[in-house]
Amino acid sequence: MSGGRTLTGQAVSPGIAIGPPMVVENRPMPVTREQVDPARIAGEVTRLRDAAARAGAQLGQLAEQARTRVGQEYAAIFEAHRMMLADPALLDEVERVIRAEAVNAEWALEQVVHRLIAQFERLSDVYLRERQTDLLDVASQLHRELQGRPSLRPTPIGEEEGILVADDIPPSQAVQLATGMVCGFASETGGQTSHTTIIAKSLGIPAVVGVAGLVGAVARSSLVIVDGFEGHVLVDPDPGLVQVYRVRAEEHRRRQRELLEVVQLPPVTLDQHRVRLLANIDLLHEVGAARDGGAEGIGLFRSEFVFIEASPSLPDEDQQTAAYRALLDAFPGQPVTVRTFDLGGKKLARELLGSPEANPVLGLRGVRLCLQKPEFFRTQLRALLRAAGTERDNLRIMVPLVGHVEEIKTVRTLLNRLGRELEGEGHPVPETFSVGAMIEVPAAAMIAEHLAQEADFFAIGTNDLTQYTLAVDRANEQVADLYRPFHPAVLRLLDRIISAGSRAGIPVELCGEMAADPLAVPVLVGLGLEEFSMHPPALPVVRRLVRGLSFRDAQRIARRALAMATAKEVEEFLLEQLSNLLAHLKVRITL
Ligand code: PEP
Ligand code: MG
Repeated sequence: MSGGRTLTGQAVSPGIAIGPPMVVENRPMPVTREQVDPARIAGEVTRLRDAAARAGAQLGQLAEQARTRVGQEYAAIFEAHRMMLADPALLDEVERVIRAEAVNAEWALEQVVHRLIAQFERLSDVYLRERQTDLLDVASQLHRELQGRPSLRPTPIGEEEGILVADDIPPSQAVQLATGMVCGFASETGGQTSHTTIIAKSLGIPAVVGVAGLVGAVARSSLVIVDGFEGHVLVDPDPGLVQVYRVRAEEHRRRQRELLEVVQLPPVTLDQHRVRLLANIDLLHEVGAARDGGAEGIGLFRSEFVFIEASPSLPDEDQQTAAYRALLDAFPGQPVTVRTFDLGGKKLARELLGSPEANPVLGLRGVRLCLQKPEFFRTQLRALLRAAGTERDNLRIMVPLVGHVEEIKTVRTLLNRLGRELEGEGHPVPETFSVGAMIEVPAAAMIAEHLAQEADFFAIGTNDLTQYTLAVDRANEQVADLYRPFHPAVLRLLDRIISAGSRAGIPVELCGEMAADPLAVPVLVGLGLEEFSMHPPALPVVRRLVRGLSFRDAQRIARRALAMATAKEVEEFLLEQLSNLLAHLKVRITL
């Protein structure tokens, strides 16, 4: 029926997006050394300078659009990259190598970048080492221009938004999704809980990931449809089909508006069992969406994004204090849970904080990294205490990737020490604050009753808990079908954690993607989960489902699911339960 092609991947963020593609390639590009004839050297230098001018103009355009659409903090990222590109230490040096060695511009660029990176690596200053990531970003942009390969092309202001199509988008680039230029997202890599997916969901951007051969298929197309329900990417579809999808997109928007009607009603079951709905946010400007969705506080602020927002400077204590304070003030009297930097693993600035690891997901990430690099952790903890001061009592500090009781104890000791230090400097600090443990490592789940003696609350990170329990990389599309949060092993761990929290009398929240999954809502309510934290667009659906459930039925559902042997059995059972619930509620949601 279509004149174009339809590719299939994994639907990870619902909705339909229609627009021109903006193609990004991040795969490393092979660079070969070519000897340049002396007569052509001047031409090679011109080629370099022209490519740099094009890359610079593009970064300028990106900065401008980011500034007008989302704010100065995003514009600063692109501006910093443009300045780096204009720095004579880079381009003049590449030109020198072209002339001295009579080689092609790509090769010269590669040599210079290698040398600069080696210099950065010898520095002890974390801030300066971080510049490696920026340098690599700028170099790869210049490289693409030299090779005439597609890169992120901003659509002119006022024109249609585009679909971001990529081979792979690392978390450090995921922030581009928030520039207001992207209405849909598709990529060759990624999975249900990879970080870029999470950001797309938060922003309500329809997304399909794990689409083999995507970039090649889209490279010369002019229109793409992302079907975030079925997991399809349609390349240059017939006008008739485009019309069909426009109608579906409108229908989805209408349903979303309907769901918002219940936003003011409390999330309470039919038999008066109350839960709390909180928001996960990565970027400060998502606060508005969290409020619109009726969030009763923040259950997860992924503070590592403060790094990206402040780039190229390392966010200093004052900047961080201001950011956290803004967040605390956005939800007065309601919990605001700031997760301390969860850097490392595959996330964000791993490269800048140590030498590359062979197995980073099992390596120096989360609280381990923070405790090994106390200087930047200290800055963050001081900023958190200063942000709360004596006037705000809604701060919850959440520690990621806890596996050992000692880790929580050490963070608390550090906080107490820093509190005294700040008081000595005349800063008001809170008398009490909550320190919680993220439970996302199976070991932590197994010792939950001990951790509950040290932690003021638990936050279950099912994205990682599933990954580590099932030994399945959450971002690897090759094993995406094995990534099953409803595996009975994961459910049993959830039961264990929630029960341990409840016996100790501490709040338990769940802030992995599972909290937003309609299939999971009845079983989680039934297990006794009190706090559900999710990307803001999912809040209305979950609220509606909670209000349609009876707690007694939910407990029965949880008991039955816990006794099952396979993920498939659990999923089928939960689907049946959800269908009954939806039929009863006379609500249609798209799973
Ligand atoms: C999780 O692991 O479930 C979680 C919420 O943290 P992140 O997705 O940032 O790893
Ligand atoms: Mg996690």
